[in-house]
Amino acid sequence: MPNNPTDDREDHGLMPLKVLSVASEAVPLVKTGGLADVAGALPAAVAPHDVAMTTLLPGYPSVGKVLGKGKLVHKWASLLGQPARLLSGTIGKHKLLVLDCPAYFAREGGPYGDANGQDWTDNWQRFAAFGRAAADIASGKVKGYSFDLVHAHDWQAAMTLAYLKLASDTPDLPAVMTIHNMAFQGHFDAKVFPRLGLPSSAWTMDGVENYGGVGFLKAGMQMADIITTVSPSYAAEIRQPEFGMGLEGLVAARGSRVRGILNGIDPKVWNPAEDSEIAARYSHRTLTRRKINKRAVEGAFGLEQSDGPLFTAISRLTWQKGTDVLLEVLDHLVGMGGRLALLGSGDKAIEAGLHEAAARHPGRIGVHIGYDEGLSHRLQAGADAILVPSRFEPCGLTQLYGLAYGCVPVVARTGGLADTVIDANPAALTAGVATGVQFDGVHYHALRAAIDRVMALYEQPRKWRRVQQNGMKADFSWEASGHAYAELYRELTGRTA
Ligand code: ADP
Repeated sequence: MPNNPTDDREDHGLMPLKVLSVASEAVPLVKTGGLADVAGALPAAVAPHDVAMTTLLPGYPSVGKVLGKGKLVHKWASLLGQPARLLSGTIGKHKLLVLDCPAYFAREGGPYGDANGQDWTDNWQRFAAFGRAAADIASGKVKGYSFDLVHAHDWQAAMTLAYLKLASDTPDLPAVMTIHNMAFQGHFDAKVFPRLGLPSSAWTMDGVENYGGVGFLKAGMQMADIITTVSPSYAAEIRQPEFGMGLEGLVAARGSRVRGILNGIDPKVWNPAEDSEIAARYSHRTLTRRKINKRAVEGAFGLEQSDGPLFTAISRLTWQKGTDVLLEVLDHLVGMGGRLALLGSGDKAIEAGLHEAAARHPGRIGVHIGYDEGLSHRLQAGADAILVPSRFEPCGLTQLYGLAYGCVPVVARTGGLADTVIDANPAALTAGVATGVQFDGVHYHALRAAIDRVMALYEQPRKWRRVQQNGMKADFSWEASGHAYAELYRELTGRTA
């Protein structure tokens, strides 16, 4: 087998565009959030457009377990001070490279922090090394590998572009930087700069310097030929301080080089007609079967059996996700005859508040603290509506899963939530196009009013069913997004299909 097995088409003289996707997470190997879903789905999404994507991941224990031994393709005597190896394997049907560097990545805990959620203090070094390795691979320093373009995701991969564009020993290559969440920027103390191995000329406002420190995401955004984020609305929002979080000036300065490409969902994983996790499979034609799944959710969360509205939320419990406001509105939700089955983990105070609410409303509120992929499928299949009161949301996936499963999304009008849900206002209901409920502003009164609107709609079964069915028929598969990314790659490389 050649080191860099490419598509059959190469044998026929049609060269696919070769893209190195650099990400710190990808399903099914490692996931803490939506980034993993996107990085995992992207290779298959762009493949039909003659793009051969190779994904580079850090060698966390969970990645090693699936990869096994892998095939050794390269060795570094020192990557920012530590020896490292590059292993090749596959992710699904696609090519995978893994940076095997035990000193940086073979740790118990999460990808970015320990079991208590404390960030690793050497994260700057871990992900600078990751970027350095990615730049080497992208620029052809690893025998048998060559690429036409590099696509870096989030701050953990952003230094790839700094090494590609600023270090003198790497040739230039077209580069895309995707921001999955502006709230995570990888900002570090200025004292790490000399240890990055970049020329001293990189220490400028046009380089890696950011507010007196080193900004990984900032550097990536500065160096990228195109910056994308994961919804058109969020691409516009990050020009404002509230969403740009200090980088709004840079976003504005980069002007039309900042674009929004909506995430898709994987219909092989998120399809109620084929989902092996759920009790009863169904389609938009057999929606009544959802009742079986509703009973299963009630059972799993110790809730009373009822045909009344059952809400869910599946979320990191953080300020971004507005779960503090959700907590405030729970007494009202129950008072109106609603019930809630919540799955999530995060902020300890919110977790405690949820447990208290469940104790106050036995049989009406059920809480599962933790991360459980299977349960998240069962909730989407059995609950009537999913609450997504995010203060900001670059794209958001849970509302897309809700749409696909007939679990009506109730969302704050921001970012990708605004771009993917059609509010059930009178005009949209009359036109028969509504897919959910939107509300403005993440505060008690707005969420309370949205819940009241959901209750009123739920009382009108025909209209409710129509909203569910509209959502289920809406196409948020990866097809459109894959096409958009492939077009972008072609634009940057000047290669036509
Ligand atoms: P973010 O990436 O900001 O956390 P997204 O909505 O883009 O938000 O993606 C979150 C992903 O993580 C979704 O796939 C969602 O189903 C999943 N998820 C979040 N919390 C949990 C949980 N506690 N258990 C299972 N899946 C979860």
